[in-house]
Amino acid sequence: MSNKLLESLLLEYDYKKRKAELDLEERKGILYQRIPRLQEIENEINNLAINNAKNILLKKAALTDLKNSINLLKKEKENILKQNNVSDSFLQPYYECNLCQDTGYIQDSKKGSSLCPCLKQKLLDISYNKSNISNLSRENFDNFDLSVFSNKIDFEKFKLNISPRQNILTIKNKCLDFIQNFDNPDYKNLLFTGNTGLGKTYMSNCIANELIKKRKKCSLPNCSRFT
Ligand SMILES: [Zn+2]
Repeated sequence: MSNKLLESLLLEYDYKKRKAELDLEERKGILYQRIPRLQEIENEINNLAINNAKNILLKKAALTDLKNSINLLKKEKENILKQNNVSDSFLQPYYECNLCQDTGYIQDSKKGSSLCPCLKQKLLDISYNKSNISNLSRENFDNFDLSVFSNKIDFEKFKLNISPRQNILTIKNKCLDFIQNFDNPDYKNLLFTGNTGLGKTYMSNCIANELIKKRKKCSLPNCSRFT
């Protein structure tokens, strides 16, 4: 994965995140103008939270008082929102991805930080578009039409004791086996050789498409595991 690509994607994420948060401020501004008590509640909660942090060494009873006051204010806010038919989510940022909140990363206290599936998918999509396999809708095993291959054995022409249809079916099954065993390091690679027009690229695209569905990174002529 190129660092430049990741950097530009992260810039995009940063922009999305800021936009979601600015949009929230705008929504808040409009709502608070209509219901000024909501602004007061927010200020009071913020002040109490600051006091809470400052007085971390306060006696337990005093801390409980502070928490109770904050909870009362939150409850009042909830009631005001309900009375005015405003959903709770209205006062939350509308992130494109709630999993990573548009940061591209998921933070886990045990596992640390890891790429969010949304960012992984973007990287896969870009990698897919960059590769030469743009015929996903056309060249895949679902559209594989055996009937275009003759069912007659023609040894003189093909030097094979089986019909072209039987032959392509054998090749297709080998490809499916390859896909099935893609993560098995003991499984051998596939190599297509032959004259042009025999369907080597078509078959490679079919394999690549199946692997992309399994979230493997593909860039013809190579496919690799995506981590
Ligand atoms: Zn995400």
